[in-house]
Amino acid sequence: MAYKITSQCISCNLCLSVCPTGAIKIVEGQHWIDSELCTNCVGSIHTMPQCKAGCPTCDGCVKQPSNYWEGWFTNYNHVVAKLTNKQDYWERWFNCYSQKYFEQLQKRQPQSVGSEAYVK
Ligand code: SF4
Ligand code: SF4
Repeated sequence: MAYKITSQCISCNLCLSVCPTGAIKIVEGQHWIDSELCTNCVGSIHTMPQCKAGCPTCDGCVKQPSNYWEGWFTNYNHVVAKLTNKQDYWERWFNCYSQKYFEQLQKRQPQSVGSEAYVK
């Protein structure tokens, strides 16, 4: 299942009517997505998950991470993006880091060639 309904849900019932597969149910007063029925809206006329798209709350319906680390990175990226105002923080960081690393390698190249010559 890719989406889940959280405690932020205000029970407006909007998602119940828009879900093309009838995957959203109410169990003991709580809205819940049946993973057997949810198709992530793939293969329907919709281009995005309707439960998430129509939800009036911020996090009432959220993408469910498929594993622990995916969830961890999603949360972490969310926090970093909030703090830095940059969605692509890690991409920039990696580009900058690899550029610096490359420059350092280039600087070291003549030394290693020289030391190889010394060993011979
Ligand atoms: S992702 Fe689509 S199919 Fe799945 S629960 Fe949401 S609206 Fe229904
Ligand atoms: S649309 Fe959002 S707030 Fe409304 S019932 Fe569904 S999950 Fe809850």
